[in-house]
Amino acid sequence: MPDEKTLDDLFLDTLKDIYYAERQLTKTLPKLAKAAQSAELKAGFEEHLAQTEGHVERLEHIFDLLGKPARGKTCDAILGIIEEGKSAMEDYKGSPALDAALVAAAQAAEHYEITRYGTLKTWADELGMKDAVKLLDATLQEEVETDQKLTKLAMSKVNLKAA
Ligand code: FE
Ligand code: FE
Repeated sequence: MPDEKTLDDLFLDTLKDIYYAERQLTKTLPKLAKAAQSAELKAGFEEHLAQTEGHVERLEHIFDLLGKPARGKTCDAILGIIEEGKSAMEDYKGSPALDAALVAAAQAAEHYEITRYGTLKTWADELGMKDAVKLLDATLQEEVETDQKLTKLAMSKVNLKAA
């Protein structure tokens, strides 16, 4: 008989996936901040690094609620997004389009996070985990705001410089 996995298992596995991704991002955001040419973009990455540390803590809180140890599970998607960002950083080093490349890389990561948090929030709701819904939603809102700020910065400055 096949292993009868349920939504609880899927929730925990996906929590481990985003936990791994968030921890990778805490290592990547300082590199983006260091590479950014625009002071505003640099400050934006630093601000999101602080938020990302909070995202890690919220996830640890949810592991606690589940009575499970906080453990990551290798997320190939975020590793691929980070790898592409690193390549863009090298390929556009010293060029006017560098910041536009950094914004594009960061937005790919934000969109990955948005899809994960959106799914987890829906599942938490279906599983009746009210506290987890609140924690997941708080992070989801910050990811959406970050994505919107990056779009604004790209349209108002970064892309013009690159053009
Ligand atoms: Fe995050
Ligand atoms: Fe984020």
